Amino acid sequence: MRNHARALALIATLSVSTAYAQDPKGDVAWDLLAGLTSEVGPRMPGSEAEARARVWAEARLKALGFSNVAVEPFKIRGYVRGRDEGSLLAPIPFKLAITALGYSGTTPEKGIEGDVVYFPTLDALKAAPAGSLSGKIAFIDHAMKRNQDGSGYGPYGQVRRAGPAIASGKGAIGVVIRSIGTDSHRNPHTGGTTFPDGVKPIPAGAVSNPDADLIARIARSGKAIRLSLTLTGKTTDNLPSGNVIGDLPGRDPSLPPILLGCHLDSWDLGTGAIDDAAGCAIITAAALKAQEGGAPLRTIRVLWAGSEELGGFGGKAYAEKHSEPHALAMESDFGASRVWRVQFNMADKALTDRIAAALSPMGIVRGSGKADGGTDVEPVIERQKLAVVDLNQDGTHYFDLHHTPDDTLDKVDPAELAQNVAAWAEVLKVVANEAGPIAAAP
Ligand SMILES: [Zn+2]
Repeated sequence: MRNHARALALIATLSVSTAYAQDPKGDVAWDLLAGLTSEVGPRMPGSEAEARARVWAEARLKALGFSNVAVEPFKIRGYVRGRDEGSLLAPIPFKLAITALGYSGTTPEKGIEGDVVYFPTLDALKAAPAGSLSGKIAFIDHAMKRNQDGSGYGPYGQVRRAGPAIASGKGAIGVVIRSIGTDSHRNPHTGGTTFPDGVKPIPAGAVSNPDADLIARIARSGKAIRLSLTLTGKTTDNLPSGNVIGDLPGRDPSLPPILLGCHLDSWDLGTGAIDDAAGCAIITAAALKAQEGGAPLRTIRVLWAGSEELGGFGGKAYAEKHSEPHALAMESDFGASRVWRVQFNMADKALTDRIAAALSPMGIVRGSGKADGGTDVEPVIERQKLAVVDLNQDGTHYFDLHHTPDDTLDKVDPAELAQNVAAWAEVLKVVANEAGPIAAAP
C-alpha cells in the first residue's frame, strides 16, 4: 500500500513536470494565447465578451511596450446565439449534434418540423426546381477532405456560405448542412452564412460529420426522413465592435509601416485558441522579436481586428480609417501549426530572394502562388495595392477543430507556436529594415 502511494506520488510529480514543459511561462506568444483564451474566453463579434477582449488587448499591448495603442470602434450586424437543438424524428429518433450558423433565421421556441430533402452536393441543390422545397427542410452534404494547404475550405465552404440562401429561394422552411470540417467527432462546426437582400432568412444549422453520415446513409436507403429544428438565435443590428492597433516605432518615421493582421473575435463553441488567438499571439510576439538587436528602420503595426467571423468587418473598418500609406501587409489566421511555405506578392525579386533565404534553414519552402494576406488585411491591400508575404501553415488538421467546441488551448503545440514566431521574425527583420520602396508585383 505504501509502495502504491509512493508510485502515485511519483506519477503526480512526472505529470506536473510534463505539464510545465507544455506551458512555457514567460513566452510572449504562449502568454498571449493562454491569456486571451483563459481570461476572456469565447468572443463573438459584437458581444460583451468581444468588448472585454478589446479592453484586455489594449492593456496587454501597452504592457508589452507598444505605442499608439488604440481601440477603433465600429458597429456591426451580429448574431446572438440562442438555443440550438435538432432531432431526427423518422425513420429513427436521434438527437443531433447541431449548431446554428451565424445569421441563421429564427425558429419559434417550440421549433419547426419538416420532411427532409437530401442533396449530395451544392450543385444538386442549385439544380432543384423552383418551389420544389416548399414546406421542406433541405439537407446539404459535401465531400471536403483534409489538405495541407486547407484549400477545401474555399469550394466546400460554399455549402455553408451560400447553401441556406439557395434553399430558401426554393421554398425550404429550414436547412441543415454537413459541417464544413474534416474530423469524425460529434462536434458541429459553426460559421457565418449569408442571406442576400430579398432572400428570406430561414433557420440554418450544421450537424457533426457522424450525424451527417447517418443522414446520408438513411437517404441512400430510400427511407423518408423527418426532423425537428429549434434554433432561437437572432440577427441583431448595431452591435458594438472594434479593432485594436499598436505600433513598435521604427528608426525612420518617414517610411511607411509594415502591417500585421489577426482577429480578436472568435466563435463561441470553444475559446477561439487556433481561430484566432494564435494568430494575434504569433504576430505580436514576432513584432517584438524583430526588435532584438535594436529597432528596425520601419514601424511595425499590429492590427487585432474585430468581427472577422461574420464578414470581415474589422478589416474593412481599418482600410476606411487608415488612408496613410503602408508598405506591406501580412496576416496570421490559420491556427498554430508549423509554417511550411512562403509566398509573395512583391515587385522586388531580390527582396523575395532574401526573405526566402532567411526562411530556408527552417525548412520553409518557396511557393509559386500569389500571396493575398487574408480577410483582415485584404481591404487595405486592395485599396493601397500593397505588397504581401504569406507564411502558409500546415492546415492538415485545422478543419478538424475550426469553429468547434474543440478549438481550445490544449490543441496548440508550444513548439509549433514558437516556430511560427521565429519564421515571422525572420521575415520582419528583412522587410522592416528595407529602406527602398516595397511594392506589389505589377
Ligand atoms: Zn479566423
